[in-house]
Amino acid sequence: KSNRSVLALYSKLKWINKVNKLANKVAVVTGGNSGIGFGIAQAFKNEGAKGAITGRNQVTLNHSVQSLGEGFISIQGDVTNQDDLERIFQQTAEAFGKIDVLVVNAGGVVDGIPMGSISDVTEQAYDRYMDLNLKSAYFTVQKSLPYLNDGASVILIGSSAAHRAAPGMAIYSAAKAAVISLAKGLSLDLLARNIRVNTLSPGSIDTPVFGKLVPEEHLAQVKQTWIDMIPVGKQGLPSDIGKAAVFLASDDSAFIVGTEILSDGGMTNIS
Ligand code: NDP
Repeated sequence: KSNRSVLALYSKLKWINKVNKLANKVAVVTGGNSGIGFGIAQAFKNEGAKGAITGRNQVTLNHSVQSLGEGFISIQGDVTNQDDLERIFQQTAEAFGKIDVLVVNAGGVVDGIPMGSISDVTEQAYDRYMDLNLKSAYFTVQKSLPYLNDGASVILIGSSAAHRAAPGMAIYSAAKAAVISLAKGLSLDLLARNIRVNTLSPGSIDTPVFGKLVPEEHLAQVKQTWIDMIPVGKQGLPSDIGKAAVFLASDDSAFIVGTEILSDGGMTNIS
């Protein structure tokens, strides 16, 4: 019994002494209503941040914002639409004032257009993948600029796919490789305002995206194929990416500028 009370006292003290790394910071997480984006928003909330999550699906937005609780709002918008992007930042600034952290996460699979090998890809499919995974990242940052605090941290979500080829994913891989270059170039452009831009590249993370790519009956097998390629022997979780995002969003990473952090269980470099 006395062990239990010592433990209870310890966890209370730990809670009292907890320093929130993002206390009162205002964050915007695009695609914060699902998977990695939601994991990042949760991690931000746990570290004292407030702000907005965005996405197109109002149902998942409502569900996610409710689950985040006080301090977060949801804003519906399509990141491939310039007017929506402007509105997202205007509404966030109206609700919270200027923005300290921007996570450019919305992306991945284009609805109704599967990735495919070169002979199957139409020009329209090519454009839609580039629009979602590269062009939208550039313009999300551009539209945020009037509302970003000097000293803000911008995190672009890249992918280990930028480094490691996978069948039928050439366009997506190329778009994400370009995102890593964007972080370098934009960092230089934004140096005068002390705005840091970095890429956080997840490896294979267990999110709803797999359900969009693979029929239910093949899901377990496809996930196992990925796990077999990951040296630590498991897929990552959105919370793993959330923790890395907290680091890049906080002053702990103040000297990290224009570079990439991979969170992939070793898949890119040691498998
Ligand atoms: P999910 O499919 O779970 O989430 C994608 C998010 O992007 C959703 O919130 C979706 O919201 C939003 N989104 C998609 N298209 C648009 C659009 N046109 N406008 C606005 N929002 C949009 O995928 P993940 O969480 O897995 O992926 C998140 C990011 O992480 C992507 O950039 C992806 O490329 C990257 N990534 C994922 C990996 C993984 O293994 N899961 C690995 C490496 C990178 P809604 O549908 O409501 O619009």
